[in-house]
Amino acid sequence: MDQVRISMEKLAIFGGEPVRDTRIFYGRQDIEDDDIEAVVNVLKGNLITCGPAVDALEKQLARITGAKYAVAVSNGTAALHIAALAAGFGPGDEVIVSSITFAASSNCVLYCGATPVFADIRRDTYNIDPESIRSLITPKTKGIVAVDFTGQSVEMEEIRQIAKEHNLVLIEDAAHAIGTKYKGSPVGSNADMTCFSFHPVKTVTSGEGGAVTTNDEATYRKLLRLRSHGITRNQEEMVHPSDALWYNEQVELGFNYRMTDFQAALLSSQLRKLPRFSARRRDIVKKYDEAFLKLPEIIVQREIPESDTTRHLYIIRLDLSKLTCDRRQFFDALYAENTCPQVHYLPVYWHSYYEKLGYKKGLCPEAESFYKEVMSIPLYPAMTDADVEDVIHAVTKVVEYYRA
Ligand SMILES: *Cc1c(COP(=O)(O)O)cnc(C)c1O
Repeated sequence: MDQVRISMEKLAIFGGEPVRDTRIFYGRQDIEDDDIEAVVNVLKGNLITCGPAVDALEKQLARITGAKYAVAVSNGTAALHIAALAAGFGPGDEVIVSSITFAASSNCVLYCGATPVFADIRRDTYNIDPESIRSLITPKTKGIVAVDFTGQSVEMEEIRQIAKEHNLVLIEDAAHAIGTKYKGSPVGSNADMTCFSFHPVKTVTSGEGGAVTTNDEATYRKLLRLRSHGITRNQEEMVHPSDALWYNEQVELGFNYRMTDFQAALLSSQLRKLPRFSARRRDIVKKYDEAFLKLPEIIVQREIPESDTTRHLYIIRLDLSKLTCDRRQFFDALYAENTCPQVHYLPVYWHSYYEKLGYKKGLCPEAESFYKEVMSIPLYPAMTDADVEDVIHAVTKVVEYYRA
């Protein structure tokens, strides 16, 4: 009821009928009958966690990403946490992180007792700016967490070069980027470790879920231990090796970050559809780009030619000099048209928790002006062509209303 009332109030901005009479949101999962069947089949079997579906998923993820190893975990944040620990981040270390991202990209650095240092973004691609990374390096810098924001790959060659020069561990937060390639090489095999999320708004889902991929065997072993309490059954990793069948040994402090087999089965089924999902997302992005390039008030995200992108988010950026509204008014007006946007993201260090840690406004000027001008509009494979037309119609209607 509340929601309906809010919507009616907002409609008063324009009067008249909204572009559509049902709400559409920026993202949603696409679960089909065969996905459900895959889950049910596991639930009818013997092992519903730590079983064969997780093994099969990890092999499939390694194949798709071109990485040697994949470790499935309970969510994307857990993936980032164990990756940051496997990187060896700890108290006294600085880790350079994208400023425009979900807080988890930076929280994983805090979990390890290390200090996040925020890098600015490029004005046109919205991804982390390699020049900003360079300018922030100190003798304490230990690593980089680079986020493939909206699904577009970061400038991997430049960032890898910086990491090599300064002996830094490079973690790619690819929560948005399953299915993307950089110079033909799938995301997942381009950094020291790559972290994925399979939350329902992401391109493929396991409900909750995540994974880390790597090409390094020692890192892989460490990730496996951290996922499961720091306990190993591998004698080579034990301080007191024993071949007794019952024996396992906790050799470090880990967690329970395991994924269940029914989640793994759901994700395996979803991953088989990744080419279709990617193609549909691309198709919608193309339609949006064509429509919005015609509107001088809307700035379209630049794609670097090296990234062959499966887009997770479609961001419209307002040229506020050409509009009589601010971002808030534009957002509310789109909402009143039942085209419900979201904002990705607040600069991480603007969160009050980070403010309390001592981070000040003004650190990353490009990220801060980006935040004031953007919103993400609906993008997911199950959208119909009519949905896409509605969104274009709604954005155009609001632009025309507020045109300066
Ligand atoms: C979704 C997301 C995460 C966290 O993933 P969860 O599975 O929700 O824990 C981390 N980083 C980015 C950029 C994300 O979008």
